[in-house]
Amino acid sequence: MFASNLDTPLVYLKGVGPKRAELLQKELGITTYEQLLHHYPFRYIDRTRFYKMNELSEDMPVVQVIGKISTKEVIGEKHKKRIVAKFTDETGTMELVWFQSLKWVEEHILKGSTYIAFGKPNLFNHSFSISHPDMEMYPRQVGVTGNLTLQPIYNATEKLKRIFLDSKGIQKLIHHIIELHINEVRETLPNYILKKYKLISKKQALLYIHFPKDTFTLQQAERRLKFEELFFIQLQLLHNKQMRSLKFKGALFNTVGDKINTFYTKVLPFELTNAQKRVIKEIRLDTQRGIQMNRLIQGDVGSGKTVVALMSMLLANDNGYQACMMAPTEILARQHYHSIASLLNNDLAKVAILTGSTTKKQRTLLHQQLELGEIDILIGTHALIEDKVKFKNLGLVVIDEQHRFGVEQRAKLWRKNNIPPHILVMTATPIPRTLAMTLYGDLDVSVINELPIGRKPIETKHLYEGQRLRMFGFMKQEIAKGRQVYIVYPLIKESEKLDLLHLEAGVEQMRYQFPLPDYQISIVHGQMRNADKAYEMQRFIDGKSQIMVATTVIEVGVNVPNASVMIIENAERFGLSQLHQLRGRVGRGAEQSFCILMSSAKLGPNSKLRLETMVKTNDGFEISEIDLQLRGPGDITGTQQSGVLELKMANLAKDQVILQEARNTVIELFEQDAMLEKAENVLLKNYLEKRRRAIAFDKIS
Ligand code: ADP
Ligand code: MG
Repeated sequence: MFASNLDTPLVYLKGVGPKRAELLQKELGITTYEQLLHHYPFRYIDRTRFYKMNELSEDMPVVQVIGKISTKEVIGEKHKKRIVAKFTDETGTMELVWFQSLKWVEEHILKGSTYIAFGKPNLFNHSFSISHPDMEMYPRQVGVTGNLTLQPIYNATEKLKRIFLDSKGIQKLIHHIIELHINEVRETLPNYILKKYKLISKKQALLYIHFPKDTFTLQQAERRLKFEELFFIQLQLLHNKQMRSLKFKGALFNTVGDKINTFYTKVLPFELTNAQKRVIKEIRLDTQRGIQMNRLIQGDVGSGKTVVALMSMLLANDNGYQACMMAPTEILARQHYHSIASLLNNDLAKVAILTGSTTKKQRTLLHQQLELGEIDILIGTHALIEDKVKFKNLGLVVIDEQHRFGVEQRAKLWRKNNIPPHILVMTATPIPRTLAMTLYGDLDVSVINELPIGRKPIETKHLYEGQRLRMFGFMKQEIAKGRQVYIVYPLIKESEKLDLLHLEAGVEQMRYQFPLPDYQISIVHGQMRNADKAYEMQRFIDGKSQIMVATTVIEVGVNVPNASVMIIENAERFGLSQLHQLRGRVGRGAEQSFCILMSSAKLGPNSKLRLETMVKTNDGFEISEIDLQLRGPGDITGTQQSGVLELKMANLAKDQVILQEARNTVIELFEQDAMLEKAENVLLKNYLEKRRRAIAFDKIS
């Protein structure tokens, strides 16, 4: 038999035969009673609200009307055959129409009786009709689950609907399960947690999520199920983190030695911001505890992450360890190498670079020097993680722009030393707190939420197409001051050809406004050969061209400090985070920088909000929060692989408070009962054990 009745396969449920069971599995991935119980409604319809016929309007999604069937007739032949009934209340008359199940309608919908009809009203020839209305006797029958005021609506696919497993059909099945088995639903959360957060029991929650008595019970059910969902994610993440720290010892960086001291007092050309100081301190504390550090630094473009990384690497050096830093592209690796090497002047530490274009001869030498410990800091691309690259004693790995490095690649790094090196991941893509807690919940997160002082915030303006001449005038003025300008066009796969035409038309207009020989224009887009792109890019970097017209291919991290104007065409077509990234290409030099968002005059509410947000703030974190509200987590980098999107109930854009509660609960839990040995936590211990076995099993099979 099955461990519990809820594990019973659906074939055994009343109303489900082999065919329905098979389709439920195929279409919704549901095979057991338990899984069907966890198939939640995606919305509810308020069935306490009734409309009079004279209140109907065409834009109403669904309505309930009480009326009497005054006539009923069969019209048409064969496949055009239908039943049309006149449905009347004291304010007017409408039509109800059926094309299918005519026999049922003949027998059950009776002339002269009063019903509640429910469905989408359509307007035709000045009169309303509903086709295939849901019909209920009026007054309403009281069912097993009490008076239904909020009708649950379930996801069902076309195939399921064809075998009558539409929303109503699914509701019926769930009703059966609840009637027979609701008492077998077991609690998953310890009692003291339920009490502390005033959560209803699992059993009640499942009952109310499917058959809410009213909005209050529905809210209670939702809160309980959201909490549970987020709680178990946090439990797993923080458990993993704890296990890792028990399993892996970390290199001890106890000494703040000569290198870092000299750098700080003599070399560093500026004062660190408070945020930078705070993060360095966090890293210092992490690396003195004897456990391996796994820390993520989030900091907007220009917040000064590199120097934090450098000081951490010097700290490693001071304690007799080597350090390395990985960048996602060759350009970025070179940039880091040059700025770090020139700061250190080969004096404080020996710095080297390794990328795909390092020659074989250089490589051989480098490998030797690394193994002998003659190189202190190695900077490079993913060429660093090749197995051939061995260190004498690697203590710290810095990964810049983490999104492009997978778990596998990171694991490779770990194996480069007996004690796995400390890991510092840096990202310039601010992500909202709720997402960070979930995506990176097993890492420690530091935030550099402050730009160096004296940085002039980029001024952002939104101009409409009609103001284009103003934009050109402004460009001329800035170029006359010696500055350079980016103009970015959207280009997406679906409308690639048209997009390129727009870009070309734009360039045409530009040449008219900015004639040769006074102005040079560089053009870069995805359809050009790499060599041509590089050539055009270089002309701009060297200051030979003043204007760079490009699609979004312009490399992340490209640094042209003299470029101080970013113009984004059709800005309404870009997402917020992309606009923010593009804007980050300017504001890198001493000059006041500008961003101009060009858009058509007609904007939808979301586009408008995006552009307004850009004008209002330069703060990447604020922008990421609004982005999450607008788009949901699905479109935000990093979420795709993370399982965040499989959340059934919780919504990371909306449920920040519950998420924080869930995380705090788990943190407290591990503080008080690290190994989950207390009797009150046995449910949680069992949960983790079950998961561990499931994962182990997955690996074998
Ligand atoms: P990002 O966080 O985008 O990687 P960088 O580390 O490249 O930023 O720093 C951007 C610029 O700011 C660099 O030129 C760097 O030297 C400078 N910088 C970093 N920290 C400070 C500071 N505290 N005061 C002044 N300038 C700073
Ligand atoms: Mg950087």
